[in-house]
Amino acid sequence: MFSSVKSKIKKISAAGSLLKTLALPLFLSLVIPLLSFNEKYKGNAFRIKTIVVDAGHGGHDGTTRGLIAREKDVALQVALRLGKSIEENLPDVRVVYTRTEDIFVPLYERIGVANRVKADLFISIHCNSMPSSMKNRSSVRGTETFVSGFNRLGQQDAALRENASLLLENDYKDNYDGFDPNDPESVIVFSFMKNQFRDQSIKLASLMQTEYVATGRIDRGVKEQGLAVLAKAGMPAVLTEIGFISSPQEEEYMVSDYGQNEIVTCLLKAIQTYKKQVEIQ
Ligand SMILES: [Zn+2]
Repeated sequence: MFSSVKSKIKKISAAGSLLKTLALPLFLSLVIPLLSFNEKYKGNAFRIKTIVVDAGHGGHDGTTRGLIAREKDVALQVALRLGKSIEENLPDVRVVYTRTEDIFVPLYERIGVANRVKADLFISIHCNSMPSSMKNRSSVRGTETFVSGFNRLGQQDAALRENASLLLENDYKDNYDGFDPNDPESVIVFSFMKNQFRDQSIKLASLMQTEYVATGRIDRGVKEQGLAVLAKAGMPAVLTEIGFISSPQEEEYMVSDYGQNEIVTCLLKAIQTYKKQVEIQ
């Protein structure tokens, strides 16, 4: 009995010394990967450094108009205000514009700018409009924000209207892989293009809609559409329709100082929230 206890003690002390021998390598084998994981994690620190602000249309592409204003002018005014506001409130972020004056910029070039400067976000500003043939068109109001995705076209789809800008580009079929904005099937094929930034784009778009709604705007939601300007984005990208220029009430709001400031504040808040959520320190 005694010897068996003794041998147990021996065994325990043998196990203890084995543990002691193994302790350091064991400790190191556990800690080193953790340290290197932390180092790796640090190395992967992600910050939003560059935001491309895109004022929709411009030049001979004036697109929709209301009673007193044209979409291209309202989009430019709001885009410039947004850029200024980002620079003032997020000084570590560089703002790049696709246009700062009334000039025509092809859609592929807009996203091309964003890809070239390795932007972390692409935000395209537009005004919505109901077709002039539609009864009660002036009563339709609200904001909606698009991300690149799949859709079947209806007559009033934003994709149909926004992609029509392509027709003003001479070589659009070469620049958009044969994409034909007049052909709904073509739009659908185009929409299947891989969008690896879909979730992040939806996150930003949802935050924008939430901010609009908080100021009393009508929520038309976040939608996925086959938009040429977003399709080749190598970063989260959204197109926000800040209101209906075909509604005199919203047109007045969008051209006013008050309205533009409110819209810009909404967009800035959404960007700030998004930035906090996605950045890795
Ligand atoms: Zn537009």
